[in-house]
Amino acid sequence: MFSFSKYFLAQSLDEAYVELIKNKKNIILGGTSYLRMGNTNWNTAIDISNLNLRYISENDSYISLGAMTTFRDLEINPLLKTYFGEIFNTALKDVIGVQFRSNVTVGATVFSKYGFSDLIPALLALNAKVKLFNFGEISLENFLEEQNIRKDILVEILIPKVKLQTSFKCVRKSKTDYSILNMAVSYSKEKGITIAVGSRPTKALLAKNTMSLINSFSNLENSLTDAMKTISNEIIVDSNMRGSKSYRELLLAALLRKTIQEVLQ
Ligand SMILES: Cc1cc2nc3c(=O)[nH]c(=O)nc-3n(C[C@H](O)[C@H](O)[C@H](O)COP(=O)(O)OP(=O)(O)OC[C@H]3O[C@@H](n4cnc5c(N)ncnc54)[C@H](O)[C@@H]3O)c2cc1C
Repeated sequence: MFSFSKYFLAQSLDEAYVELIKNKKNIILGGTSYLRMGNTNWNTAIDISNLNLRYISENDSYISLGAMTTFRDLEINPLLKTYFGEIFNTALKDVIGVQFRSNVTVGATVFSKYGFSDLIPALLALNAKVKLFNFGEISLENFLEEQNIRKDILVEILIPKVKLQTSFKCVRKSKTDYSILNMAVSYSKEKGITIAVGSRPTKALLAKNTMSLINSFSNLENSLTDAMKTISNEIIVDSNMRGSKSYRELLLAALLRKTIQEVLQ
């Protein structure tokens, strides 16, 4: 179990950030489910739960997910369903149980760039951006590419408000285990296909060559055989205790076929 010497209830994001950068062992608290798995003795634990960061809102261009929004909020939100179908529900329904998903937060998950995450590939396939308190806005794709974890606060996730066909598939050894591999795909006639792969087992990324190949075909279904070869060459996967590299390579092609067929239906 983690512990901390001091507790700080922030009254504003400014206050939280000033406190955060005072000491490298100061941390922001999300739902604390992941922090509780560790034994670290932190200095100050900064609570941002009073800052109204639990919301799913919209303007003309974006749907915004506040940092303290929970997985369960995403699963049952009608606005997200209207624009992106079942992608959040499908991606998150096997993350432990409802009680757990009612506690874990979007901000902590994305900020921590967990390789095993089921949420991050879904957001990547929706072309999401990340808004950090100090740094400002950055595409999720570029944020994930950064090797270092910044000393900053994730304030919200911005998803372009464009209706998309979506699909999310993953393979798990048992219902609530981490995914061995997961894939999220979005499609619209105007924007074409976007493919994100996660649990490789490292950080999620976009399959850009495969996307270009599929988007260059006038009949997308005809591109599938070539796309399955391209994705296997393009996306580097590896072994861990959940699955071998060669098993993940087979899954890549299989999940691609299923996700593409689903978004084209
Ligand atoms: C047992 C277990 C099983 C899991 N299984 C899955 C799974 O199958 N699939 C899946 O996708 N995920 C899974 N997860 C991960 C989970 O979904 C969350 O991603 C994770 O728990 C982090 O969310 P949290 O709110 O608990 O973060 P916390 O534990 O509160 O924080 C995690 C880290 O993020 C930092 N942080 C929190 N909020 C912010 C912020 N706004 N800005 C900057 N930094 C911040 C904290 O300081 C900390 O370093 C699992 C987690 C656990 C504990």
